[in-house]
Amino acid sequence: MGGRYVLEREGAFYWMGGDPFGDYWEGREVPTDERLTWLAPVRPSIVVAIGLNYKDHASEMNKKLPEEPLVFLKPPSAVAGPDEPVRLPAWAGRIEHEAEMAVVIGRTASRVVAADAMRYVLGVTCLCDVTARELQVKDVQYSRAKGFDTFAPLGPCIAVGLDPSNLAIEGWVNGERRHQSNTDQLIFPVPVLIEHVTRFMTLQPGDIITTGTPSGVGALTPGDRVMVKVEGVGTLSNPCVAA
Ligand code: MG
Repeated sequence: MGGRYVLEREGAFYWMGGDPFGDYWEGREVPTDERLTWLAPVRPSIVVAIGLNYKDHASEMNKKLPEEPLVFLKPPSAVAGPDEPVRLPAWAGRIEHEAEMAVVIGRTASRVVAADAMRYVLGVTCLCDVTARELQVKDVQYSRAKGFDTFAPLGPCIAVGLDPSNLAIEGWVNGERRHQSNTDQLIFPVPVLIEHVTRFMTLQPGDIITTGTPSGVGALTPGDRVMVKVEGVGTLSNPCVAA
């Protein structure tokens, strides 16, 4: 991936020097007339996703609440940036949106305890866990249903310094609100998820844990525009096109 990191402060953008996961500094202001294409704010080596982490979503799926976090993976090839088209293959059947808050890991994390977990978080972002619902049911395993190219749009930025335990979250399609909740409704909160995942998997800087969707999932079709909003992060907005 080409591209450079940019820092946002009070509405202005500055080129970032150094390493966003280490020491970095603010460079010159990015001229407003400069034509920029915003990429996904991070290139994860893996996207770890959590299923059924809001009670209202578990009920809408007629699923029992998990006794421990339900973990699946989305491949890095599924990542798409802000405004990048989500490509919907007609043969995949019904495809749905899931609005999620995602956590960006800031440092190598292995066998982290919950009490210590927030030290491993760089920040939070928005993620749309696009899902081919019929394939999810058919396959039982989630890899294909959740793993298509562009099925993990994320961004528009990594917001640092937020408390991920109390953020409003919304999902919109074509200007209609489909999801409305708060991350205080997570069954397994972020520190518990980090402890659970790093008990068996080492996470690298830039890796993502996406924390699950509240209720409100629904179909996406070509021509739709899907948006995920997380308080303090902003709006991730993506058009949907036929693959
Ligand atoms: Mg999901």
